[in-house]
Amino acid sequence: MEVNCEGCAGCCLNWRPFHDDETEETARRRARLDADADAAATRAPFDDDTNFVALTRDEVRGFLEAGMAPALTPRFWRARDEEEGVEIDGRSVAAVAGRPVFFVGLRKPPKPVAPFDREDPTWLPACVFLDPATLQCRIHGDEHFPDECGAYPAHNLALEQETECERVEAAFGGRRLLEDDVPEDLDGLLLGTQALGAKLFAHPRPEALEGVVDRTAAGELTSEDRAECLAVAAASSPGTLVTSDYHYEWGKERALEAAGVSSDSADERDDERRGSADGSTATRSESWVGPAIREWYQRRRAAEETVPSPAVATDVEEGRGAPETPGWDAIE
Ligand code: SF4
Repeated sequence: MEVNCEGCAGCCLNWRPFHDDETEETARRRARLDADADAAATRAPFDDDTNFVALTRDEVRGFLEAGMAPALTPRFWRARDEEEGVEIDGRSVAAVAGRPVFFVGLRKPPKPVAPFDREDPTWLPACVFLDPATLQCRIHGDEHFPDECGAYPAHNLALEQETECERVEAAFGGRRLLEDDVPEDLDGLLLGTQALGAKLFAHPRPEALEGVVDRTAAGELTSEDRAECLAVAAASSPGTLVTSDYHYEWGKERALEAAGVSSDSADERDDERRGSADGSTATRSESWVGPAIREWYQRRRAAEETVPSPAVATDVEEGRGAPETPGWDAIE
């Protein structure tokens, strides 16, 4: 698909606060209120990510293998009616055969970004893999680049849904979507029962999610919460509700290890609230991802009203081993 991505990254960050001149917190509150209002009619997600990138089971395993579990997070939905839901934390959670279902996608820590020709950077939730300075993807074309990102926006067009490119055009002008024909070889949509166990995961023990759904809605998931969901996703079998005990244990261990949490210290605090500015608490992390996410949250809290240059990513991300991006001059 031909798209004009330079200076955009609209599908890699949550840019709605720009549009309405909302603050991050107002946008978050509004999203929750909207979701509550819609909950009876739709399966609204409990989180407020406007561009959630859903990963396949094999992609989840690949990130776990690479020590990048802190990059991942689950998404649960409100049930459309009582019959399709299971109750967790006093909420009706969408389920299949009594098992709460979820996606696993990429986290969006706050980063200083200046998309759409804005002169000054703003703190916005941006994909863990987005280079805030160039607004390019750090894993584009590598083995971990998600299928869903590679197929965007073709999947939306195939489903006759508005694309993020069109929303950005409507909000800021310019041309982003340069063609709208759906490629004939498009695959990977994984709809309906095809998705179960491949992209839509079902937790076999709803009671293990007590507290997790509340923390999802509050934006306060812990490393242990995420590890529980990643382990189930890694243990899933496409087309079935079966999970593999071996892969569950493996996934849990990898996720906790990458987050710098030992399996027996269940009282470790959440990434967003812990760690030193240099990420030194994550001594066992094998990747730049976990320490960088922690530092972004710490910088955001410490910054209050100030916003640093996106170039600080050179220290926060590249200084820890994140792949560099080429910049737009290098791309025709
Ligand atoms: S993985 Fe890359 S393309 Fe996909 S949302 Fe993140 S930054 Fe964007």
